[in-house]
Amino acid sequence: TSAPPPALAVRDVTVRFAGLTALDTVSFTVAPGSVHALIGPNGAGKSTCFNVLSGLCRPAAGRVLLGDTELTGRPPHRIAALGVARTFQNIVTTAGTVADNLMLGRHALSRAGFTASALGLPRARREQREHLARAREIAELVGLGAHFDAPVALLSYGDRKRVELARALCLEPRVLLLDEPVAGMNGAERARTAEVVGTVREQLGLSVVLVEHDMGLVMRLADEVTVLDFGRPIAHGTPDEVRRHPEVLRAYLGT
Ligand code: ADP
Ligand code: MG
Repeated sequence: TSAPPPALAVRDVTVRFAGLTALDTVSFTVAPGSVHALIGPNGAGKSTCFNVLSGLCRPAAGRVLLGDTELTGRPPHRIAALGVARTFQNIVTTAGTVADNLMLGRHALSRAGFTASALGLPRARREQREHLARAREIAELVGLGAHFDAPVALLSYGDRKRVELARALCLEPRVLLLDEPVAGMNGAERARTAEVVGTVREQLGLSVVLVEHDMGLVMRLADEVTVLDFGRPIAHGTPDEVRRHPEVLRAYLGT
């Protein structure tokens, strides 16, 4: 039997910024329900790759496919509506409650419903209640259930980063892009987030693309790894294969 078609396929994507090739014919696929890690030194092009996948950056060449659906050239809100959600490196929310932030995620899912609900229509009010119930479920899934009505500003840094994760999940994505989800976290927060990513992948059947510098986390969560260096893919394989790859050792350790 042949392998199932990939959830996400990146084919020969090239991105240039004035004089700099940030991504140079990068290709990889993400198997349904798997975690694909994208690793590499600072400046390797990982965040740029996420910007291409989420529609914030238009590649000079190459394509991105979600299942059979062409994503290349579509605007970010369309890509999000088609089922690709992301978190950002270095962005944590500080305003509102956890519930407020997650309802913003639901809002992005159904604009019309929320307009109607502002007018107080009964069907819209019911939908609003359903969105709130789902937001609460997602908060519980990422371990924020007890903080659902708490102001985000009062949460720990690790919990605030997980609000971003929960907000992305509120879009009910098929593919989740996580850009350095444990950056800046302490050991306990890292372990907690790793567990949460494993749980949401399993329970929601998500495919995940993970950008992360924490090799322990990558080794623990990833099914496949693609290594970028100066925008070029230099290695691909299982975490074990990649860890022993001579090019990877050179890029990381400068040997
Ligand atoms: P990573 O996330 O792997 O650290 P980035 O994707 O952020 O790397 O950056 C890859 C390269 O592209 C870097 O050299 C960076 O300076 C450059 N770069 C990223 N975004 C832009 C931009 N909008 N304009 C110009 N150069 C950029
Ligand atoms: Mg980055």
